[in-house]
Amino acid sequence: MNFIDNAIIEVSSGNGGKGHMSFRKEKFVPLGGPDGGNGGNGGDIVFEADRQLTTLLDFRYERKYHAEDGKQGGTSRCTGKSGKDKIIRVPAGTVIRNVETQEVLADLTEDKQRTMIAKGGRGGRGNAEFTTSVNQAPRTFEPGEPGEQFTLELELKILADIGLVGFPNAGKSTLISVMSAAKPKIADYPFTTLIPNLGMVYVGNERSFTMADIPGLIEGAHEGKGLGIQFLRHVERTKVLVFLLDAMSGDPIEEYTVLCEELRKYDASMLEKPRIICISKMDTVTDADRPILEALDFGKHHLVLMISAVSGENIEVLKREMWKLLAEAGQE
Ligand code: GDP
Ligand code: MG
Repeated sequence: MNFIDNAIIEVSSGNGGKGHMSFRKEKFVPLGGPDGGNGGNGGDIVFEADRQLTTLLDFRYERKYHAEDGKQGGTSRCTGKSGKDKIIRVPAGTVIRNVETQEVLADLTEDKQRTMIAKGGRGGRGNAEFTTSVNQAPRTFEPGEPGEQFTLELELKILADIGLVGFPNAGKSTLISVMSAAKPKIADYPFTTLIPNLGMVYVGNERSFTMADIPGLIEGAHEGKGLGIQFLRHVERTKVLVFLLDAMSGDPIEEYTVLCEELRKYDASMLEKPRIICISKMDTVTDADRPILEALDFGKHHLVLMISAVSGENIEVLKREMWKLLAEAGQE
Protein backbone atom coordinates (compact mmCIF):
# COMPACT_ATOMS: atom_id res chain seq x y z
CA MET A 1 0.00 0.00 0.00
CA ASN A 2 1.35 3.34 -0.89
CA PHE A 3 0.97 5.62 1.99
CA ILE A 4 -1.16 8.49 0.77
CA ASP A 5 -1.30 11.81 2.41
CA ASN A 6 -3.25 14.82 1.29
CA ALA A 7 -3.32 18.53 1.74
CA ILE A 8 -5.17 21.35 0.06
CA ILE A 9 -3.31 24.62 -0.15
CA GLU A 10 -3.68 27.96 -1.84
CA VAL A 11 -0.84 29.53 -3.71
CA SER A 12 -0.50 32.87 -5.39
CA SER A 13 2.42 34.23 -7.29
CA GLY A 14 3.53 37.80 -6.71
CA ASN A 15 1.83 40.71 -8.38
CA GLY A 16 3.90 42.79 -10.74
CA GLY A 17 4.96 46.17 -9.37
CA LYS A 18 3.33 49.31 -10.66
CA GLY A 19 5.12 51.34 -13.31
CA HIS A 20 6.20 54.78 -12.16
CA MET A 21 5.19 58.16 -13.53
CA SER A 22 7.70 60.90 -13.08
CA PHE A 23 9.61 63.59 -14.94
CA ARG A 24 13.18 64.67 -14.77
CA LYS A 25 13.59 68.07 -13.19
CA GLU A 26 15.60 70.25 -15.56
CA LYS A 27 15.93 73.96 -15.29
CA PHE A 28 14.57 75.24 -18.57
CA VAL A 29 12.51 72.26 -19.57
CA PRO A 30 9.01 72.49 -18.14
CA LEU A 31 8.41 68.73 -18.06
CA GLY A 32 12.07 67.64 -17.98
CA GLY A 33 11.45 64.36 -19.74
CA PRO A 34 9.59 61.28 -18.54
CA ASP A 35 11.72 59.05 -16.37
CA GLY A 36 9.33 56.75 -14.52
CA GLY A 37 10.75 53.23 -14.35
CA ASN A 38 9.03 49.90 -14.76
CA GLY A 39 7.67 47.91 -11.89
CA GLY A 40 9.48 44.73 -10.85
CA ASN A 41 8.09 41.32 -11.71
CA GLY A 42 6.25 39.35 -9.08
CA GLY A 43 7.87 36.21 -7.68
CA ASP A 44 6.93 32.75 -8.93
CA ILE A 45 5.53 29.88 -6.94
CA VAL A 46 7.99 27.03 -7.33
CA PHE A 47 7.79 23.53 -5.85
CA GLU A 48 10.89 21.57 -5.07
CA ALA A 49 11.02 17.89 -4.18
CA ASP A 50 13.12 17.00 -1.19
CA ARG A 51 13.97 13.41 -0.38
CA GLN A 52 14.58 14.27 3.26
CA LEU A 53 10.94 15.17 3.71
CA THR A 54 8.44 12.40 4.20
CA THR A 55 5.22 14.04 5.11
CA LEU A 56 2.80 16.73 4.05
CA LEU A 57 1.95 17.34 7.67
CA ASP A 58 3.23 20.93 7.61
CA PHE A 59 0.71 21.79 4.91
CA ARG A 60 -2.07 20.95 7.30
CA TYR A 61 -0.98 23.89 9.41
CA GLU A 62 0.15 26.39 6.83
CA ARG A 63 -2.26 26.52 3.94
CA LYS A 64 -1.53 29.74 2.13
CA TYR A 65 1.58 30.54 0.16
CA HIS A 66 2.30 33.81 -1.54
CA ALA A 67 5.35 34.81 -3.51
CA GLU A 68 6.61 38.33 -3.05
CA ASP A 69 5.13 41.14 -5.10
CA GLY A 70 7.32 43.16 -7.42
CA LYS A 71 8.16 46.65 -6.20
CA GLN A 72 6.98 49.80 -7.85
CA GLY A 73 9.26 51.43 -10.42
CA GLY A 74 11.11 54.58 -9.41
CA THR A 75 12.34 57.84 -10.81
CA SER A 76 15.35 58.01 -13.12
CA ARG A 77 14.02 54.97 -14.97
CA CYS A 78 14.70 52.82 -11.99
CA THR A 79 13.10 49.40 -12.33
CA GLY A 80 11.41 48.18 -9.19
CA LYS A 81 12.84 45.18 -7.40
CA SER A 82 11.50 41.83 -8.48
CA GLY A 83 9.59 39.86 -5.90
CA LYS A 84 11.32 36.79 -4.51
CA ASP A 85 10.13 33.41 -5.72
CA LYS A 86 8.45 31.27 -3.13
CA ILE A 87 10.06 27.85 -3.04
CA ILE A 88 7.77 25.29 -1.49
CA ARG A 89 9.55 22.11 -0.46
CA VAL A 90 7.59 18.90 -0.62
CA PRO A 91 8.54 15.27 -0.15
CA ALA A 92 9.67 13.44 -3.26
CA GLY A 93 6.65 11.52 -4.48
CA THR A 94 4.29 14.47 -4.24
CA VAL A 95 1.70 14.89 -6.96
CA ILE A 96 0.37 18.41 -7.45
CA ARG A 97 -3.11 18.81 -8.84
CA ASN A 98 -5.16 21.84 -9.74
CA VAL A 99 -8.30 21.39 -7.66
CA GLU A 100 -10.54 23.31 -10.04
CA THR A 101 -9.55 21.51 -13.24
CA GLN A 102 -8.31 18.28 -11.61
CA GLU A 103 -5.34 18.53 -13.92
CA VAL A 104 -2.09 17.03 -12.62
CA LEU A 105 0.40 19.86 -12.79
CA ALA A 106 3.44 17.98 -11.56
CA ASP A 107 4.61 14.70 -10.16
CA LEU A 108 7.81 15.37 -8.33
CA THR A 109 9.65 12.13 -7.98
CA GLU A 110 13.31 13.10 -8.07
CA ASP A 111 15.21 14.81 -5.32
CA LYS A 112 15.65 18.53 -6.02
CA GLN A 113 13.28 18.36 -8.98
CA ARG A 114 11.63 21.74 -9.43
CA THR A 115 8.55 22.96 -11.14
CA MET A 116 7.03 26.39 -11.48
CA ILE A 117 3.34 26.31 -10.74
CA ALA A 118 2.34 29.97 -10.75
CA LYS A 119 4.16 32.65 -12.71
CA GLY A 120 4.65 36.02 -11.08
CA GLY A 121 2.88 38.99 -12.69
CA ARG A 122 4.94 41.17 -15.00
CA GLY A 123 5.84 44.59 -13.71
CA GLY A 124 3.94 47.50 -15.30
CA ARG A 125 5.76 49.89 -17.58
CA GLY A 126 6.67 53.32 -16.28
CA ASN A 127 5.90 56.44 -18.24
CA ALA A 128 9.42 56.62 -19.68
CA GLU A 129 8.53 53.66 -21.86
CA PHE A 130 5.60 55.46 -23.42
CA THR A 131 7.63 58.28 -24.92
CA THR A 132 7.08 58.59 -28.65
CA SER A 133 7.98 61.19 -31.25
CA VAL A 134 4.59 62.76 -30.90
CA ASN A 135 4.26 62.38 -27.16
CA GLN A 136 7.39 63.52 -25.40
CA ALA A 137 5.70 63.86 -22.05
CA PRO A 138 3.47 60.85 -21.59
CA ARG A 139 1.69 60.53 -18.31
CA THR A 140 0.78 56.95 -19.04
CA PHE A 141 2.02 54.09 -16.90
CA GLU A 142 0.78 50.59 -16.24
CA PRO A 143 -0.23 48.80 -13.13
CA GLY A 144 1.58 45.51 -12.64
CA GLU A 145 -0.03 42.32 -13.85
CA PRO A 146 -1.63 40.38 -11.04
CA GLY A 147 -0.08 37.08 -10.04
CA GLU A 148 -1.81 33.76 -10.59
CA GLN A 149 -3.81 32.02 -7.92
CA PHE A 150 -4.50 28.35 -7.61
CA THR A 151 -5.99 25.99 -5.15
CA LEU A 152 -3.81 22.90 -5.19
CA GLU A 153 -4.18 19.44 -3.91
CA LEU A 154 -0.96 17.82 -2.80
CA GLU A 155 -0.93 14.10 -2.65
CA LEU A 156 1.98 12.14 -1.34
CA LYS A 157 2.49 8.65 -2.59
CA ILE A 158 5.16 7.69 -0.24
CA LEU A 159 7.12 4.52 -0.47
CA ALA A 160 8.70 3.40 2.70
CA ASP A 161 12.46 3.72 2.82
CA ILE A 162 13.01 0.72 5.05
CA GLY A 163 11.19 -2.58 4.84
CA LEU A 164 11.04 -4.78 7.93
CA VAL A 165 11.01 -8.46 7.15
CA GLY A 166 10.49 -11.15 9.71
CA PHE A 167 8.33 -13.99 10.88
CA PRO A 168 5.17 -13.23 12.80
CA ASN A 169 6.03 -12.20 16.36
CA ALA A 170 9.62 -11.37 15.52
CA GLY A 171 8.95 -7.95 17.02
CA LYS A 172 8.47 -5.85 13.88
CA SER A 173 5.52 -3.81 15.08
CA THR A 174 7.12 -3.28 18.44
CA LEU A 175 10.31 -2.10 16.81
CA ILE A 176 8.44 0.39 14.67
CA SER A 177 6.61 1.67 17.69
CA VAL A 178 9.74 2.24 19.75
CA MET A 179 11.62 3.79 16.86
CA SER A 180 8.91 6.08 15.66
CA ALA A 181 6.51 6.81 18.49
CA ALA A 182 8.97 8.96 20.38
CA LYS A 183 7.98 12.06 18.46
CA PRO A 184 4.78 13.61 19.75
CA LYS A 185 4.74 15.63 16.53
CA ILE A 186 3.39 12.60 14.73
CA ALA A 187 1.20 11.37 17.54
CA ASP A 188 -2.04 12.21 15.74
CA TYR A 189 -0.79 10.91 12.48
CA PRO A 190 -2.67 7.85 11.36
CA PHE A 191 0.26 5.54 10.73
CA THR A 192 -0.99 3.09 13.25
CA THR A 193 -4.26 2.55 11.43
CA LEU A 194 -2.45 1.37 8.36
CA ILE A 195 -1.78 -2.20 7.56
CA PRO A 196 1.05 -2.76 7.04
CA ASN A 197 2.35 -0.49 9.72
CA LEU A 198 4.20 2.52 8.61
CA GLY A 199 6.27 4.57 10.97
CA MET A 200 8.32 7.65 10.62
CA VAL A 201 11.71 7.54 12.26
CA TYR A 202 13.57 10.68 13.17
CA VAL A 203 17.33 10.91 13.19
CA GLY A 204 18.05 14.12 15.02
CA ASN A 205 15.52 16.85 14.39
CA GLU A 206 15.77 17.36 10.68
CA ARG A 207 16.13 13.98 9.10
CA SER A 208 13.51 11.35 8.94
CA PHE A 209 12.72 8.25 7.04
CA THR A 210 9.83 5.85 6.87
CA MET A 211 9.80 2.25 7.83
CA ALA A 212 7.14 -0.30 6.98
CA ASP A 213 6.59 -3.76 8.31
CA ILE A 214 4.83 -6.53 6.52
CA PRO A 215 2.75 -8.86 8.55
CA GLY A 216 3.24 -12.54 8.60
CA LEU A 217 5.88 -13.71 6.20
CA ILE A 218 6.24 -17.44 6.79
CA GLU A 219 7.67 -20.39 4.98
CA GLY A 220 5.49 -21.20 2.00
CA ALA A 221 4.15 -17.65 1.88
CA HIS A 222 4.90 -17.54 -1.82
CA GLU A 223 2.43 -20.41 -2.22
CA GLY A 224 -0.21 -18.50 -0.32
CA LYS A 225 0.49 -19.88 3.14
CA GLY A 226 -0.25 -17.58 6.02
CA LEU A 227 -1.08 -14.17 4.72
CA GLY A 228 0.71 -14.97 1.51
CA ILE A 229 3.21 -12.68 -0.04
CA GLN A 230 0.88 -10.05 -1.38
CA PHE A 231 2.13 -7.95 1.49
CA LEU A 232 5.57 -8.03 -0.01
CA ARG A 233 4.57 -5.48 -2.55
CA HIS A 234 4.57 -2.99 0.28
CA VAL A 235 8.25 -3.41 0.72
CA GLU A 236 9.01 -4.12 -2.90
CA ARG A 237 10.23 -0.63 -3.51
CA THR A 238 11.90 0.06 -0.23
CA LYS A 239 15.56 0.88 -0.45
CA VAL A 240 16.82 -1.10 2.48
CA LEU A 241 15.62 -4.32 4.10
CA VAL A 242 15.94 -5.01 7.77
CA PHE A 243 15.58 -8.63 8.80
CA LEU A 244 14.23 -9.22 12.24
CA LEU A 245 15.04 -12.60 13.73
CA ASP A 246 13.66 -13.57 17.12
CA ALA A 247 16.46 -14.49 19.51
CA MET A 248 14.13 -17.01 21.15
CA SER A 249 13.12 -18.75 17.97
CA GLY A 250 15.71 -21.48 18.22
CA ASP A 251 17.46 -21.14 14.92
CA PRO A 252 17.85 -17.62 13.58
CA ILE A 253 19.99 -18.79 10.67
CA GLU A 254 17.26 -21.15 9.53
CA GLU A 255 14.68 -18.36 9.84
CA TYR A 256 16.88 -16.06 7.87
CA THR A 257 17.35 -18.62 5.13
CA VAL A 258 13.60 -19.14 4.85
CA LEU A 259 12.94 -15.40 4.70
CA CYS A 260 15.54 -14.92 1.99
CA GLU A 261 14.07 -17.78 0.02
CA GLU A 262 10.55 -16.34 0.22
CA LEU A 263 11.87 -12.99 -0.91
CA ARG A 264 13.78 -14.56 -3.76
CA LYS A 265 10.72 -16.42 -4.97
CA TYR A 266 8.73 -13.24 -4.91
CA ASP A 267 11.33 -11.21 -6.77
CA ALA A 268 15.02 -11.99 -6.85
CA SER A 269 15.90 -8.32 -6.99
CA MET A 270 14.68 -8.01 -3.40
CA LEU A 271 17.88 -9.69 -2.36
CA GLU A 272 19.96 -7.06 -4.06
CA LYS A 273 18.84 -4.44 -1.61
CA PRO A 274 21.25 -3.44 1.12
CA ARG A 275 20.22 -5.07 4.35
CA ILE A 276 20.75 -5.15 8.07
CA ILE A 277 20.18 -8.28 10.10
CA CYS A 278 18.83 -7.89 13.61
CA ILE A 279 18.48 -10.46 16.31
CA SER A 280 15.55 -9.16 18.32
CA LYS A 281 14.41 -9.50 21.93
CA MET A 282 17.96 -9.68 23.28
CA ASP A 283 16.63 -8.71 26.70
CA THR A 284 15.26 -12.23 27.00
CA VAL A 285 18.56 -13.90 26.30
CA THR A 286 20.65 -15.36 29.11
CA ASP A 287 24.27 -14.35 29.49
CA ALA A 288 25.23 -17.86 28.49
CA ASP A 289 23.32 -17.73 25.21
CA ARG A 290 24.37 -14.28 24.16
CA PRO A 291 27.81 -15.20 22.80
CA ILE A 292 26.26 -18.01 20.78
CA LEU A 293 23.92 -15.58 19.06
CA GLU A 294 26.69 -13.06 18.58
CA ALA A 295 28.79 -15.68 16.86
CA LEU A 296 26.18 -16.61 14.28
CA ASP A 297 27.45 -16.36 10.75
CA PHE A 298 25.01 -15.00 8.20
CA GLY A 299 27.49 -15.05 5.39
CA LYS A 300 28.60 -12.10 3.31
CA HIS A 301 29.36 -8.90 5.13
CA HIS A 302 25.97 -7.84 6.26
CA LEU A 303 25.77 -5.83 9.40
CA VAL A 304 24.34 -7.94 12.25
CA LEU A 305 22.98 -6.18 15.32
CA MET A 306 21.73 -7.55 18.61
CA ILE A 307 18.74 -5.44 19.53
CA SER A 308 15.95 -5.18 22.03
CA ALA A 309 12.92 -2.98 21.72
CA VAL A 310 12.34 -3.50 25.44
CA SER A 311 15.76 -2.61 26.84
CA GLY A 312 16.61 -0.26 23.99
CA GLU A 313 19.78 -2.15 23.17
CA ASN A 314 21.28 -0.95 19.91
CA ILE A 315 18.11 0.84 18.84
CA GLU A 316 19.94 4.13 18.29
CA VAL A 317 22.74 2.33 16.51
CA LEU A 318 20.19 0.66 14.26
CA LYS A 319 18.63 4.03 13.44
CA ARG A 320 21.97 5.46 12.46
CA GLU A 321 22.91 2.42 10.40
CA MET A 322 19.57 2.56 8.60
CA TRP A 323 20.15 6.19 7.85
CA LYS A 324 23.65 5.46 6.60
CA LEU A 325 22.45 2.80 4.17
CA LEU A 326 19.64 5.04 2.99
CA ALA A 327 22.03 7.88 2.37
CA GLU A 328 24.28 5.55 0.37
CA ALA A 329 21.29 4.17 -1.57
CA GLY A 330 20.12 7.70 -2.28
CA GLN A 331 23.40 8.65 -3.86
CA GLU A 332 23.23 6.07 -6.59
P1 GDP B 1 5.44 -8.74 14.88
O1 GDP B 1 4.45 -9.82 14.66
O2 GDP B 1 6.74 -9.05 14.20
O3 GDP B 1 4.93 -7.37 14.55
O4 GDP B 1 5.81 -8.78 16.44
P2 GDP B 1 5.27 -7.84 17.59
O5 GDP B 1 5.94 -6.54 17.54
O6 GDP B 1 3.79 -7.83 17.56
O7 GDP B 1 5.80 -8.61 18.86
C1 GDP B 1 5.45 -9.94 19.16
C2 GDP B 1 5.60 -10.15 20.67
O8 GDP B 1 6.96 -10.02 21.03
C3 GDP B 1 4.84 -9.18 21.52
O9 GDP B 1 4.31 -9.83 22.61
C4 GDP B 1 5.90 -8.18 21.96
O10 GDP B 1 5.58 -7.60 23.18
C5 GDP B 1 7.11 -9.06 22.06
N1 GDP B 1 8.34 -8.30 21.82
C6 GDP B 1 8.63 -7.53 20.75
N2 GDP B 1 9.85 -7.00 20.88
C7 GDP B 1 10.35 -7.43 22.04
C8 GDP B 1 11.61 -7.24 22.74
O11 GDP B 1 12.51 -6.53 22.29
N3 GDP B 1 11.75 -7.88 23.94
C9 GDP B 1 10.77 -8.64 24.47
N4 GDP B 1 11.01 -9.21 25.64
N5 GDP B 1 9.59 -8.85 23.85
C10 GDP B 1 9.38 -8.27 22.66
MG1 MG C 1 3.09 -6.93 13.67
